[in-house]
Amino acid sequence: ATLNSKKQQAKQYVKDVYHATEQRNPHETEFLQAVKEIVDSLIPVLARQPQYMESGILERLLEPEKVVSFRVPWVDDHGRVQVNRGYRVQFNSALGPYKGGLRFHPTVNQSIVKFLGFEQIFKNSLTGQLIGGGKGGSDFDPKGKSDMEVMRFCQSFMSELYQHIGPDTDVPAGDVGVSAREIGYLFGQYKKLRGQFEAGVLTGKGLEYGGSLARTEATGYGLVYFVREMLQDKGLDFNGKTVVVSGSGNVSIYAIEKAMEFGARVVACSDSDGCIYDENGINLDTVKKLKETGNERISAYTEKHPNAQYLEDCTQIWTIPCDIALPCATQNEIDEKTAKTLLNNGVKAVGEGANMPSTLEAVNVFVDQDILFAPAKAANAGGVAVSALEMAQNGSKHMWSFEEVDTRLQEIMKGIYQNSIQAASDYGTPDNLVAGANIAGFMKVADAMIAQGVI
Ligand code: GLU
Repeated sequence: ATLNSKKQQAKQYVKDVYHATEQRNPHETEFLQAVKEIVDSLIPVLARQPQYMESGILERLLEPEKVVSFRVPWVDDHGRVQVNRGYRVQFNSALGPYKGGLRFHPTVNQSIVKFLGFEQIFKNSLTGQLIGGGKGGSDFDPKGKSDMEVMRFCQSFMSELYQHIGPDTDVPAGDVGVSAREIGYLFGQYKKLRGQFEAGVLTGKGLEYGGSLARTEATGYGLVYFVREMLQDKGLDFNGKTVVVSGSGNVSIYAIEKAMEFGARVVACSDSDGCIYDENGINLDTVKKLKETGNERISAYTEKHPNAQYLEDCTQIWTIPCDIALPCATQNEIDEKTAKTLLNNGVKAVGEGANMPSTLEAVNVFVDQDILFAPAKAANAGGVAVSALEMAQNGSKHMWSFEEVDTRLQEIMKGIYQNSIQAASDYGTPDNLVAGANIAGFMKVADAMIAQGVI
């Protein structure tokens, strides 16, 4: 058949597979959004490599290998019983044990966990490390909870989760609402139930008991390393550029730190209540003090820096003019209208630190207008990449220096950029990193699935 008719065939296959996924997962809007973006970009690959269609790769890839959901009962500080729902989606193990974070946030539901787990398959593949894709979490809201409430919740969560995970089975880590404190409580409970110290069962651990140096910084640093590669390819860099970074959690803070180190002027960040705009560049120490240790709202920033402006709506952050936008808050924070505002204000590059922060329509605005666009599954892969390095250190019982881990992280981010840009040009969409990352991430998983047979 001609290439054209093969392309028609691939298009029809993708249409059918997507339709079946919609039928099977009605109302899972975030999951379907992530699926749509991936499968549409795979048409040129499927047209050229019909073995993927013949071995039902997409049909298998779109159905998680296993999904568990469970009751998480715990007792609050007033002695009242509370119940939350826990999830773990073990999406794909073609490349290695399931790997991916846990998110504790009131918006967590099966669709959110599935979209995150699905993205994780391709992201993990892109890192070049041997890790499969998974994700978990709970609708538990850590905001306003005492330390002991968080501990009791984590212990109850792990009392169910432990039987599904292990250093060679499934290795959770942090995500929104889960950082070193939660990982510590989860690890303690796992260790107690197993009766063994299995360091490699969780990543993002404290440095005292098996954590890796540079894991905390990895996602934010990795994002900036990736964007640096993308800029460099066009003869640009961070130096002197105005940057806006949404969010003020772990990803944002270390993206801001590295962007500043590269000479950028970072003028704004945010939390779910609002955003701050400090024209001459925000003071990162203040943000760190408020957010990392103080557990305070970003609005408190203006008490220390009265020249800064506070805007009482976090979406307002995208009305601030910038050269480089780094969305590091949450999914779908940039819609089509927001993307157009950024465009009209002269944005030159966008790098996604959060998972799926741009809607499909927003992505199309950036790609169609030739804005340099670094998609999340490539640009924020530094976190999980260093998680894989943490697993390697745990397995070998060695601990590497900060410089050693950071150097490897830079090499990994460079490799992801090169593989993605190469795949984009190989399959007829030069410069399109959305397509390139999806294709490069997909092919490795698909080839491993074919090699391992229909399972
Ligand atoms: N939650 C992070 C992500 O979205 C990191 C996952 C991990 O380290 O396993 O990739």
